[in-house]
Amino acid sequence: MIYKRKKKKEKPLPLFDRMGVTVKKKPDLKAKLDKEFSLFIRLRDAMPNGCFRCISCGHIKPFEQADNGHYINRQHMSTRFDEMNCNAQCRKCNRFMEGNIQNYRKGLIAKYGEQKVILLEAKQGITRKYSDFEYEQLIKYYKALNKKLKKEKEI
Ligand SMILES: [Zn+2]
Repeated sequence: MIYKRKKKKEKPLPLFDRMGVTVKKKPDLKAKLDKEFSLFIRLRDAMPNGCFRCISCGHIKPFEQADNGHYINRQHMSTRFDEMNCNAQCRKCNRFMEGNIQNYRKGLIAKYGEQKVILLEAKQGITRKYSDFEYEQLIKYYKALNKKLKKEKEI
């Protein structure tokens, strides 16, 4: 992986070019990947009985109620699509308790071990930029994986 220092944000494409010809807006690749990646995390963490255990509070809830909870806030691109940084979380913890972070950390340590959690936390300050090509490849990858997981887990 290549990490880069923060650069200026890309300007969105104008809707019209100089000649007044409509220019196609770029498809929102980040949003597309968010969607596939979120589904992947929830499918990955689904148990054979179609339920999941919330990484923070440990409650067992049906698959339909799972959120993709980020340990390090999703605004950090270096960990936004990190499979360890993202885990199935109940809506209460994710949406109403600001991620229930103290317990999220405990859950992560139980799942991955403290050393890996410390390494993950070190990624927070790194700026990561994805190229369109990377987005497209990742979307393809998770789409295929989701298809396979859905079949396997009968969800
Ligand atoms: Zn919870």
